[in-house]
Amino acid sequence: SLTLGIVGLPNVGKSTLFNALTRNEVLAANYPFATIEPNVGVVPLPDTRLDKLAEIFSSQRTVPATVSFVDIAGIVKGASEGAGLGNQFLANIREANAICQVIRVFDDPDVVHVDDRVDPGSDIETINTELILADLQTMERALPRLEKEARTHKDRRPALAAAEAAKEILDSGRTLFSARAELDTDELRELNLLTLKPFLYVFNADEGVLTSEDRMAELRELVAPADAVFLDAKVESELIELDEESARELLETIGQHEPGLHALARAGFHTLGLQTYLTAGPKEARAWTIRRGATAPQAAGVIHTDFERSFIKAEVVSFDDLVEAGSMATARSAGKVRMEGKDYVMADGDVVEFRHGN
Ligand code: GDP
Repeated sequence: SLTLGIVGLPNVGKSTLFNALTRNEVLAANYPFATIEPNVGVVPLPDTRLDKLAEIFSSQRTVPATVSFVDIAGIVKGASEGAGLGNQFLANIREANAICQVIRVFDDPDVVHVDDRVDPGSDIETINTELILADLQTMERALPRLEKEARTHKDRRPALAAAEAAKEILDSGRTLFSARAELDTDELRELNLLTLKPFLYVFNADEGVLTSEDRMAELRELVAPADAVFLDAKVESELIELDEESARELLETIGQHEPGLHALARAGFHTLGLQTYLTAGPKEARAWTIRRGATAPQAAGVIHTDFERSFIKAEVVSFDDLVEAGSMATARSAGKVRMEGKDYVMADGDVVEFRHGN
């Protein structure tokens, strides 16, 4: 499954956030290299539609989609040159499908900042610079090889051209993801460049930031067009210990309506380019994960690999239409249930039953 790699400077709250993500008591010491081993945290994607479906179909349980986060050891200046945890860091982050950057915006005199001040813009630049330098190193190795290949093989010319364009972007200090509209990203895929991965920014904030729309808009602008999530990692790690009622009360004290982890799961899911479709029956109401743009047979293949091959058609109703009708039978007689073929591109919120030839 696809993963988001959590990165950030030391002491920004990565371990605290990761603990909340995994509900595990991982060591969260006030120490730069507290998180050395990569770990995976799997969180449910909150989806209120599942409860509604379970009601309509009298399902025994609901099964949400999930999002996976990998905790990656702290990045430091010089990581791209193999200093400190650099090499391990780069190897781990290369395996992630997207980069989830944790940025400190909370003020706390008791928590040391590596650079002695809280400055989100500069922290983002520090991390992005390291990632850009790592990509430039990749380029230094790849370009001579691509030039050679392009001389003898015409069909390698687009790969070389794409790499040269990417190098120019990197030389100007920009991430490839932020410049992806100008790049032939398909041709670049073989290089597995770090800054071409989708970015998601998590601002580890305190109440002052979380209740200031202006401040959040400022920070959002800093990272646009990437997604930004605002949460208080310390509060999140406390929330997971509480029952629903107490959790709601604690959230209210910092002016929030839902746990930040919910927003993080949604944003992570979105950043990975994923979407869900829904199935429901007496046993379970369930959300299934597909890539955005997946066809009906590909969607069927997520339930069982055989279903993609043996796909015949999909019976599809949109969640909203189904809820309005109140039952599958009523939706059917109202003409809201469509029969879709193998070219159908799944839409978010499709409630589906597949017909297959097994
Ligand atoms: P990491 O090095 O990025 O993994 O950072 P940690 O999660 O270990 O956090 C470093 C220190 O900051 C710990 O003492 C945490 O308790 C504290 N911390 C983390 N998140 C917050 C937060 O949102 N607010 C405050 N005040 N402290 C936090």
